[in-house]
Amino acid sequence: MDLTARALGMFAALGKIPLGFYPTPLHRLERLSAMTGVDIWIKREDFSGASLFGGNKIRKLEYLLKEARDAGCDTVFTYGATQSNHAMQTACAARRCGMDPVLWLRAVVEPKAGEVRANLLLDAILGADVHILHIKDRAAPDVWQQFRPEIEAWRARLESEGRKVYDIPVGGSTPRGAVGFAHAYVELAGQCEAAGVRPDYLFTPSGSGGTLAGLAAGRALLHHNVKTFAVLSGHKPEGVYEDKAAGIANAALELLGAQERVAARDFTVLRGYVGEGYEIPYKAANDDIRLLARTEGLFADPVYSGKAFHGLMDAIRTGRVERGSTVVFVHTGGATALFAEPAIVGDLDGLS
Ligand SMILES: *Cc1c(COP(=O)(O)O)cnc(C)c1O
Repeated sequence: MDLTARALGMFAALGKIPLGFYPTPLHRLERLSAMTGVDIWIKREDFSGASLFGGNKIRKLEYLLKEARDAGCDTVFTYGATQSNHAMQTACAARRCGMDPVLWLRAVVEPKAGEVRANLLLDAILGADVHILHIKDRAAPDVWQQFRPEIEAWRARLESEGRKVYDIPVGGSTPRGAVGFAHAYVELAGQCEAAGVRPDYLFTPSGSGGTLAGLAAGRALLHHNVKTFAVLSGHKPEGVYEDKAAGIANAALELLGAQERVAARDFTVLRGYVGEGYEIPYKAANDDIRLLARTEGLFADPVYSGKAFHGLMDAIRTGRVERGSTVVFVHTGGATALFAEPAIVGDLDGLS
């Protein structure tokens, strides 16, 4: 049986609530390709919908909220940083499904009173129940541990009122959420085939690992061997992160009823483009955000897609990605971070 048809059948059998506008566009970066001698294509997950401020979390939420609705849930809990794209997209998606979003947001960058910006502003407009969690111990091995009693007490209170809570972990990076990106891979493969493009490399920004896991699962479903690079947005332990992503991919494949499996060697995690840490900008990455804007008129964000695009450009400059090869860069969205706190934006304002 045709592997694409088989994969699509598996996605349909699992089921989702349509929230985004798919397929997202795939197009060539003409000027950047001419400049570098590398054939560079971009997959526009930033155009996912449902609102102007979409991104890569919508695909995961399509599958996750289907499970929430089937279970009769009326409330969604999720977690992230105060400027979390995932939390904001979850709030949008929950609203569209008639559910109430409750967001637990760690203040990696402390928001200033009277200056509610970017995703936090959108969360407020959506009427999400936002809980800002002030970090007491930044070095704790489990960063959420210190907040668990507060979160569980809130859950118990809602449940005592007869509410039913669906829990979405950080980034929606569960096996079911990752199925959304297995689907994205199959969609992308179809677009490449139709355009006569044969990618040698796939580059994606990576945070909680679900996007990478899903892409790796989709690649396995189609028996493809495109070299897959995940550019990290935060420091993650070596080996542990790879195993976690492969584990999510394999659990997603199991959920789909597929025999294929993913190993950590199926992809390469690039750790060199984080800079000092998550949500901390740096000049070389911001230089490439400016380069993308000034050659192609496209915006990448300083937290994820900009650092990942910098990773791609560095791979091209150093010859790791050779001239004459073909790359697909997954634009995961996140441009709202361009309107976040100056600490996150760095020197992009041209003034700093
Ligand atoms: C969440 C996010 C990512 C990382 O995706 P994961 O599935 O968490 O690895 C990348 N880019 C943007 C813009 C995001 O919001």
